[in-house]
Amino acid sequence: MSDQKKILIIEDDPKITAFMQLSLKTQDYTVLAAKCGKEGILAFCNENPDIILLDLGLPDMDGIDIIKEIRNISDIPILVVSAREFDKDKIGALDAGANDYVTKPFSMGELSARIRVMERYLSQGAPSRPQSVLHFDALCIDTDRRIIVQNGKEIHLTPLEYKLLLLLARNAGKVVTHNQILKEVWGYQDSDAARNIRVCLASLRRKIEPDSSHPHYITTEIGVGYRFIEPSK
Ligand code: CA
Repeated sequence: MSDQKKILIIEDDPKITAFMQLSLKTQDYTVLAAKCGKEGILAFCNENPDIILLDLGLPDMDGIDIIKEIRNISDIPILVVSAREFDKDKIGALDAGANDYVTKPFSMGELSARIRVMERYLSQGAPSRPQSVLHFDALCIDTDRRIIVQNGKEIHLTPLEYKLLLLLARNAGKVVTHNQILKEVWGYQDSDAARNIRVCLASLRRKIEPDSSHPHYITTEIGVGYRFIEPSK
């Protein structure tokens, strides 16, 4: 059986579609294209794609409504590819259930890297059976025993730091929004919420980053959230 992945592009700009289509085909993907939201949802239902690349500004629908509609019935990876550079649009798309975000103009290298992250999530199967030991360069997280080892030395985290680390590491390569962090780590939202995340993250960085002023493991996506590096092969 072929493991060629099928990618559905929902994009109204024919030039961008052609550019992505050409380059993805040379990388051995099967590519389908839809030029509006309704066509995109129809193609999603009929063609059973593996990954969706979605523009937010479409002639007939807002991309965020498409994400919500698809999320009602499917966990398919959705990568938003949009010219909207405002943080609230990125956050809106991610909170609606998009897996990641690339802002136009983008390089094909950047897009391909993001698609490979999506593919890795596909091949890992159901998130209900996550790996118990995660490796990221010199950092190793044993989730069964709750042990974190950095460069051969065990690191001690507070329960909140551990929950935050695990959330980011389980979503390695993808951006996790402030709202998602609050929901998963704190389970509530209050006026100090943003500050709490910053404080907890700063202290986590001091413990796991070799140089916390130039973070290697956790990158800040300004105004949106944080992204953990991809796991070691
Ligand atoms: Ca558009």
